[in-house]
Amino acid sequence: MTDEFNTEMYYDDDADESYLANATVAVLGYGSQGHAHALNLHDSGVDVVVGLRESSASREAAKADGLEVATPVEAAARADVVSMLVPDTVQPAVYEQIEPELEDGNTLQFAHGFNIHYNQIQPPEHVDVTMIAPKSPGHLVRRNYENEQGTPGLLAVYQDATGDAKGRALAYGKGIGCTRAGVVETTFREETETDLFGEQAVLCGGIAELIKVGYETLVDAGYSPEMAYFECMNEMKLIVDLMYEGGLGAMWDSVSDTAEYGGLTRGDDVIDDQVRANMETVLEQVQNGEFATEWIAENQAKRPVYTQLNQAEKNHEIEEVGERLRDLFAWAEAETEDEEETDDEQPRVQAD
Ligand code: NAD
Ligand code: MG
Repeated sequence: MTDEFNTEMYYDDDADESYLANATVAVLGYGSQGHAHALNLHDSGVDVVVGLRESSASREAAKADGLEVATPVEAAARADVVSMLVPDTVQPAVYEQIEPELEDGNTLQFAHGFNIHYNQIQPPEHVDVTMIAPKSPGHLVRRNYENEQGTPGLLAVYQDATGDAKGRALAYGKGIGCTRAGVVETTFREETETDLFGEQAVLCGGIAELIKVGYETLVDAGYSPEMAYFECMNEMKLIVDLMYEGGLGAMWDSVSDTAEYGGLTRGDDVIDDQVRANMETVLEQVQNGEFATEWIAENQAKRPVYTQLNQAEKNHEIEEVGERLRDLFAWAEAETEDEEETDDEQPRVQAD
């Protein structure tokens, strides 16, 4: 299977940490990914300096975590590897400041390919440009590392000025714990386009719309919002957990035959050829740069559409219903735990 997909996987044994033995890594940004990369590299014995603006609220956090903090320009000036972990929309501006600090043979390292792929950052020819992108939120990258587990990741080399770009990227991947789980080689283009398509069509956009339209269909037909919430939102997690553990098969095996027959016969009536065509359009807009151009312009205009849609989503009835029901559940769970504790303190009476 691996050969068929032409996919290379790299593990700890394939990564040589000595590539970073005498190197300093500047981690720019201390958010979700930044804090995890900086702390994991530091704990792996790599010399790390965190680059943050003088005004950044994260400065104190990074210092309290035992890390050295400098401005992005100072950090980049000292570093052999500059890891771009500020938000994607902010990266071009930060890059502009640090570009003069990139020396021959330095590495510019990314966790997502957007700015390189869509030419928002155009690095000089004398540096390596690489990506190690953990396929997970930063707090899990950190937690897994602390638990001596790994986080799967992607590796890509966009530019290899030194001839060692891949070796260094793998060493970085080892330093943050990715090669413990496995690192898959890809390209900046493939990572960027599949990531954007996935989050738009399936993961974030697709699933949120599926849930809302399902909820609205039930409520509009006169069913109670609570029932609609349970069916269309709450149970989603249980279903996705089964798929995560054992694929679609585990899900179909676990649900009733009635659910399986209904799902198999009606699922593609819902997600029909029109939806497939819509997905192809979304993919085209990712591939031809239309989405990227729109998002860049939206940010330059201070996010008018984003702000409006973000608010509208918060105002959807399902959010209000969900908040109410989740509170009831949390209360019920806490109550059960309390009762159990009390039970434990009392002598158990055997029924027989
Ligand atoms: P984030 O929003 O969590 O953190 C960004 C940090 O950058 C902030 O905490 C702050 O320290 C700093 N920052 C913010 N604005 C700044 C500015 N104007 N100037 C300088 N510094 C500023 O970002 P993130 O989600 O960790 O994303 C970083 C990179 O990692 C992105 O390329 C993203 O695509 C990629 N990535 C993120 C995830 C994820 O789960 N969050 C997963 C894989 C890859
Ligand atoms: Mg993503």
